[in-house]
Amino acid sequence: MSDLEQFRAETRAWLEENCPPEMRKPMRGEKDATWGGRNPEYAHPDQKVWMDRMGARGWTVPDWPKEYGGGGLSPAETKILREELKRINARNPLNSFGISMLGPALLKYGTEEQKLEHLPKIARGEIRWCQGYSEPNAGSDLAGLATSAEDAGDHYIVNGQKVWTSYADKADWIFCLVRTDKTTKQGGISFLLFDMASEGVSTKPILLISGYSPFCETFFDNVKVPKANRVHDENKGWDVAKYLLGHEREMISGMGLGAGTDQLIEAARKGVDPILRGQIALFDVRSRAFAAMSERFIDELKAGKAHPAQPSMMKYYGTELNKTRHELLMAAGGSDALEWESEASNGGAAPRAWLRTKANSIEGGTSEIQLNIIAKRILDLPS
Ligand SMILES: Cc1cc2nc3c(=O)[nH]c(=O)nc-3n(C[C@H](O)[C@H](O)[C@H](O)COP(=O)(O)OP(=O)(O)OC[C@H]3O[C@@H](n4cnc5c(N)ncnc54)[C@H](O)[C@@H]3O)c2cc1C
Repeated sequence: MSDLEQFRAETRAWLEENCPPEMRKPMRGEKDATWGGRNPEYAHPDQKVWMDRMGARGWTVPDWPKEYGGGGLSPAETKILREELKRINARNPLNSFGISMLGPALLKYGTEEQKLEHLPKIARGEIRWCQGYSEPNAGSDLAGLATSAEDAGDHYIVNGQKVWTSYADKADWIFCLVRTDKTTKQGGISFLLFDMASEGVSTKPILLISGYSPFCETFFDNVKVPKANRVHDENKGWDVAKYLLGHEREMISGMGLGAGTDQLIEAARKGVDPILRGQIALFDVRSRAFAAMSERFIDELKAGKAHPAQPSMMKYYGTELNKTRHELLMAAGGSDALEWESEASNGGAAPRAWLRTKANSIEGGTSEIQLNIIAKRILDLPS
């Protein structure tokens, strides 16, 4: 047996023993997602068991170094683990902006103290993070942000407002873009980390059309943040912000691989009308092509060989696919799919998920902005 074959056999055996059967069932909705944090919420107790077991092995972040709470796996081993998790339909043990966004940025730009302080807690799901980027007048034009951080010796005093901060009311810490120099735009931004329990931080939920309130307005009123919590140099936060956005877009592009396609194919086999059947077939072909491209993209990204604009391409196409998937699910479900509250419809899971996809082409940077980036940086068109 080669080393990799042996690793696959051991991984398969460990997963068989440690992944609780409940965690191999499809998720029924957002409530089944595991986010960890200081005040965790679990729809089923096995979510905690699964998160803790994977976290203790470093397999919530398999390719991070072991000293930072990761599994220390090579790219080939990481891929095998992903395949073995998929083989048993295992749920994601831990959803986390720490894993998908802050972690990669800290690994590249953080000090050794910052890595040792934050990464292991992210890996074990002990601290839940939120993202303080967008502001009322700074979304697509993110570098126009105004939240200020005044120099006060060994700390900053932060004042301002963020908006659309996903799960800010549930998060323990925030990674936040602030203005430390008002005389330039991108060159006057710094990247800070602070506890959401700090004095002067408050949040106010915003209700979505799906009926949920996953995000908030977030206010900072004279919040004291130690300078030691700044990632990278003062006024160099834009570099960190852009690098993190690449990883965020990669994470969001994964929606293109989301569940529901099997259900569509099943509906097509049972005999929906021929036009819908044709649309489902076309969707299936595009999904498979996207999955193959995703594999290649993730390998290139992890090897540091991805084109800087590639996350925009993947984000654009993955989110369009996810929106199409849910349009088709609604069409295949007929009028039953419009049920909003009933037990049979699992609290209107299908229409709520469909409405939620409308945000896919906004969050992490809108589709128009991704197309602008692709036009400029890949197609070399004039800006
Ligand atoms: C579900 C969801 C979760 C989110 N979570 C977070 C979060 O956790 N933290 C956070 O900081 N932010 C978050 N956001 C905010 C998100 O990043 C912004 O909504 C997004 O960047 C767009 O900014 P905006 O809403 O201000 O729209 P605007 O920038 O005002 O854009 C309005 C419209 O104009 C278009 N437009 C703007 N500029 C251009 C241009 N140059 N060329 C062509 N078209 C253009 C846009 O495409 C859009 O259609 C979230 C958003 C959503 C929907």
